[in-house]
Amino acid sequence: MEYDTVREVDPEIADALSGEVERQQNTLQMIASENHASEAVMEAQSSALTNVYAEGYPGARYYAGCEYADEVEELAIERAKELWGGDHVNVQPHSGTQANMGVYLAVLDPGDKILSLDLTHGGHLSHGHPANFTGQLFDVEQYEVDAESGYIDYEAVKDKAEEFDPDIVVSGYSAYPRTVEWEKIQDAADAADAYHLADMAHITGLVAAGVHPSPVGVADFVTGSTHKTIRAGRGGIIICDEEYADDIDAAVFPGAQGGPLMHNIAGKAVGFEEALDPSFEEYAQQTIDNAKALGETLADHGFELVSGGTDNHLVLVDLRESHPDVTGNDAEEALEEVGIVLNANTVPGETRSSFNPSGIRAGTPPLTTRGFDEEATRTVGDLIAQVVDAVAEDNFEEVRDDVEAEVAQLTDEHPLYE
Ligand SMILES: *Cc1c(COP(=O)(O)O)cnc(C)c1O
Repeated sequence: MEYDTVREVDPEIADALSGEVERQQNTLQMIASENHASEAVMEAQSSALTNVYAEGYPGARYYAGCEYADEVEELAIERAKELWGGDHVNVQPHSGTQANMGVYLAVLDPGDKILSLDLTHGGHLSHGHPANFTGQLFDVEQYEVDAESGYIDYEAVKDKAEEFDPDIVVSGYSAYPRTVEWEKIQDAADAADAYHLADMAHITGLVAAGVHPSPVGVADFVTGSTHKTIRAGRGGIIICDEEYADDIDAAVFPGAQGGPLMHNIAGKAVGFEEALDPSFEEYAQQTIDNAKALGETLADHGFELVSGGTDNHLVLVDLRESHPDVTGNDAEEALEEVGIVLNANTVPGETRSSFNPSGIRAGTPPLTTRGFDEEATRTVGDLIAQVVDAVAEDNFEEVRDDVEAEVAQLTDEHPLYE
């Protein structure tokens, strides 16, 4: 990926694009919401479909010239149905947040009530945070994870639903390492006669592969991200029953968006095709096995994991007990310096702030894409522990070069794009 054509026009951007490929090749990406899309997906995303206006839906567009756009969108929808099931799929949301917006616009009015997980406990901005349109337009009440166990307290969610009487209950999370029990959230929604939006953003690929239970057929609406545990490029999707199909489609376009990003929908179609290959299930299972190996390694080094471990692709580390003087940002910055890229994250019962929280979140989807197995992932866990311990003991400079060299060896052994 040399970006020669870009370089002829714009060397500054070409340098940045090549720099980004090198950064991804030469560092370990452990942002739990990221992955590495294939060259096929990226090629589709940079196709001539970026030039096409395809407002509307396949077969019913507002513009001429949509023959190939129709073909691409129909294939994306068909493949999504094969991956997740469901009567109706909308592949147009530009992002996961836009997918959620589509659902809210379809069934809520301003002032209606949302019950969702608190952001600092693992929820998402688009579930009712005051800085997001959801917090501004709707009346939001939040549930939490159990302070002791770190698991969703489903009984408490149901109690809150009975008390608050929401119009919609939202499940699906950004920093929750455990299996989501969709039926139990459905019980809570039923108790309030509310809709249930299952936002499977992080685990969209795990659900497709059948290594996490599916919310399709349980919740009224399922939204997903196409760039996290599935490698279909940036975007969102909505899955729902036929009875909501028209409302959802109208809420996405013209409700929330204009013309669909047809080039990204082509990327989704290609990524979905890749995920229909039987090898994708192995990938998804390996992603989980690697996350478990990472969690066990960190626990062996004395780190405290929220909920004590993981069932999915991520671990959430609470640094407060093991490393009381190291903040999430301190850890994130030191790790980035040695080429391990993850993020500081709030933890349940956060005592610092969202800007400098007490935890770190690490995911294994990108490492697994480049071929990491449990053994290689354990090595990464050892390196993370070594760096954070060194920060705590004020001798980071002493370990830095050694860790950097080990990261370089791991990235060399696991080339990203051959
Ligand atoms: C990542 C995520 C989204 C989507 O985010 P976008 O950045 O808008 O694609 C939605 N919900 C949850 C729970 C997420 O973790």
